[in-house]
Amino acid sequence: MKIAFIASEATPYAKTGGLADVVGALPISLRQLGLDVAVFLPRYNGIGGTLCDHISIEMGKRYEVDIYKDNEFYFIDYPDFFKRAGLYGTKKGDFPDNCERFTLFSKVVSELVLKSSYDIVHCHDWQTGLVPLYLKLGKSTARSIFTIHNLGYQGRFPAQKWMILGLNHDYFTPEGIEYYGDINFLKAGILYGDMVTTVSQNYAQEIQKPELGFGLDGVLRSRRANLIGIVNGIDYDQWNPETDDLIYNNYTDFSGKKKNKQKLMDECCFKGARPLVGMVSRIAAQKGFDIFVKVFDSLIDLGFNMIILGSGDESYHKKLTTFGNVYPQRVSVNIKFDEKLAHRIYAGSDFFLMPSKYEPCGLGQLISLRYGTLPIVRRTGGLADTIKDYDPISAKGNGFVFTEYASKHLLAALSRSMMVYNCSDAFEKLSEKCMTYDFSWDRSAKKYIQLYEKARLSSKRD
Ligand code: ADP
Repeated sequence: MKIAFIASEATPYAKTGGLADVVGALPISLRQLGLDVAVFLPRYNGIGGTLCDHISIEMGKRYEVDIYKDNEFYFIDYPDFFKRAGLYGTKKGDFPDNCERFTLFSKVVSELVLKSSYDIVHCHDWQTGLVPLYLKLGKSTARSIFTIHNLGYQGRFPAQKWMILGLNHDYFTPEGIEYYGDINFLKAGILYGDMVTTVSQNYAQEIQKPELGFGLDGVLRSRRANLIGIVNGIDYDQWNPETDDLIYNNYTDFSGKKKNKQKLMDECCFKGARPLVGMVSRIAAQKGFDIFVKVFDSLIDLGFNMIILGSGDESYHKKLTTFGNVYPQRVSVNIKFDEKLAHRIYAGSDFFLMPSKYEPCGLGQLISLRYGTLPIVRRTGGLADTIKDYDPISAKGNGFVFTEYASKHLLAALSRSMMVYNCSDAFEKLSEKCMTYDFSWDRSAKKYIQLYEKARLSSKRD
C-alpha cells in the first residue's frame, strides 16, 4: 500500500510540539510493517534535500514552487513563505499570510498526489485541511484520512481571503467550510476527509460534545460513523533511557535514573535532597498554566523542587520567570525550545506535571513513563486513556490523576505524590514499573493500517 503523509512539521526537520513526533515516527513504524510511506513537508529554514520537481500554481498570481527530496521526505519549497524564523508565527502572533502559505502548500501537495499513484493520503491538522477537498475536486482515486491533533487550532481566516483558495462559492456555506463568516481549514478536513481520526479514543468522544468541541462538535457528530480515535505512541528509539545520548547517564533501573536526577539538580544549583517535578510544555492556556500558577507557593511548601522548560504565551513567561526568581535554589525556569534539556528533564525528574485543561493525546506523559518519571496529570483526553491513578494499597496505577480542573485538586494530586515519594520502596517500585509500559508505535500503527484497508475497501464499493 502506498501512503502519502501531509503535515506542517515532522521530526527531525521541524518541531513545535507532538504533531512533529507523530509525523516523524508513525511512518517509520508503518514502513516496518511493509507499507510504502512518503512524507510531504514545507521546506523550512535549514532543510536541504535535492531538487526533484517543479510545480507552477495559480493562486491569484503564479507561484513557481520547487520540490526537494531527502529519502522518503518531499519538501515544498517557496522561500518567501517558508524560510522564516518560526513555523507559524512570531512571539507577537501568527504570520498574517498563513492562509496563503498553507493554501499554497496544500495545492502543491494535492497536485503532486494527483499525478502519482497513492492509495491513501493521510493529512494532519488544519494546515492540510484543504487537501481532501482539492483531491476530491481533482477526482483522485486515493482515499484521504484527516487526523485532528488539536481541535483548538483550526486555521480560521477572514472571508476576504476566499479567492486565494480557488474554490467555488458553493463551498462558502455553513454546510461547507464557512464558519461564522470566516473560512475554517480544519472544518474542510473534517468534512471532506474520507475518514477522520484523532489521537486518543477519549478525545474522539470529548470533541463531539460542546465543552471540548470548539464549536465544531456538531460537524464532528455529523461524521461520527467515520470518526475514530487511535492513541499516539512514542518513538522508542528516540526516547530510550538505555541508549539516549542526550541524557547524563544511560539506565535501565531506578539507581541509574537517580544519577540523572543528581546531575540535573547540580546543574540547576539546587541544594539538598528533595523530590523534583519536571515540566516540558508549550506554554499555552490549554496546558493548565492558569491552575498551575496558583499552586506555586504551595508546591514549594510541600517540599518539591521544580524545573520547567517551555515557550509560548508571554503572559505566562513573566509569571513563571518570577516564580524562578523568588525561589532560585528550588525552581529553574527555562523559556526556550531545547531538545537536550527536555531529555534531561524526562530522565532526571521524579514527577512530570501535565495539568492540562484538555489534551488530545499528550506525549509528555508517555515519554516520562518510559524514563520512570511518574506523571501527575488531569483526567482529560489521552491523559485519561493512558494514566491511571496510583492506589497505594493495591499498587495499581501508573501516576497521579485529578479530575476537576481546579488548583485545589491539582494540589491534592501533588500531595498524594509526595506521600508516595516519602515511601521510598513504593516510589522506586512504581518508577521501575512505569519503565515497563509499552507505548511504542507498533500497536497504533497496526490500527492505522486497518483503517487504511477499510478506507480502500470503501473506495472499491463507491
Ligand atoms: P503538544 O503537541 O500539545 O505540544 P504533546 O505532549 O503531544 O503536546 O507533545 C509535546 C512534544 O513537544 C513532546 O515531545 C515534548 O517533549 C516537546 N516539547 C514541548 N515543549 C518543548 C520545549 N520547550 N523544548 C523541547 N521540547 C519540547
